[in-house]
Amino acid sequence: MEVNSIEFNLFGVNTYIVWNKDTLETAIIDPGMSNPEECLAFKQFIDLKKLQIVKLINTHLHIDHTLGNEYVEDTFGVGLIANYADAPLGAMRAQQAAMFHLRGVATTPVKVDIEIKSGDKIYLGKEYLEVLEVPGHSPGSIALYSPTDKFVITGDALFRGSVGRTDLPGGNHPTLINSIITNLMSLPSDTIVYPGHGPATTIGQEAHSNPFLR
Ligand SMILES: [Zn+2]
Repeated sequence: MEVNSIEFNLFGVNTYIVWNKDTLETAIIDPGMSNPEECLAFKQFIDLKKLQIVKLINTHLHIDHTLGNEYVEDTFGVGLIANYADAPLGAMRAQQAAMFHLRGVATTPVKVDIEIKSGDKIYLGKEYLEVLEVPGHSPGSIALYSPTDKFVITGDALFRGSVGRTDLPGGNHPTLINSIITNLMSLPSDTIVYPGHGPATTIGQEAHSNPFLR
């Protein structure tokens, strides 16, 4: 599988575009586009690569990760895949927008169409992303792991040199650290980590130097 990311919106969310090189079947993870210019930049990339979007996935249902959900759903005709433990956050979307003083965007609740849980595989042709539950930043946070291509998309659970904040509704710091140690640090050390914000890293680098995991 091929992975590309584009940074969107004022929160600097990494929207991941993952595709099967043979079939061009594509998953969009955490679409953050928040205005027509960002939608256009995204569409141009998809068209340039001739990608066929067949899956839409949210690592969790915080507002910055869901701002482009409607655009992707409506433009490409896909339903949303997410962990149902975050459904209450999706239902609170307008309150989340108000909390961050966003006006006129994300006014409708997030509706999860396809529920996923730990161990589920999301296929792009014969290749897949495996779902790892990593609660703590939010109750329904997931990571998406490719054992064959040795990468993991971690949402806001694990960043380079940091971990997700846990002061938002449903957050729990000890739960987050336990999730990371149990379900992420157990992956091979050369696994590339693609976080929801900021630059990529590896499991090995975080095991060695992340101050929150000591
Ligand atoms: Zn978040």
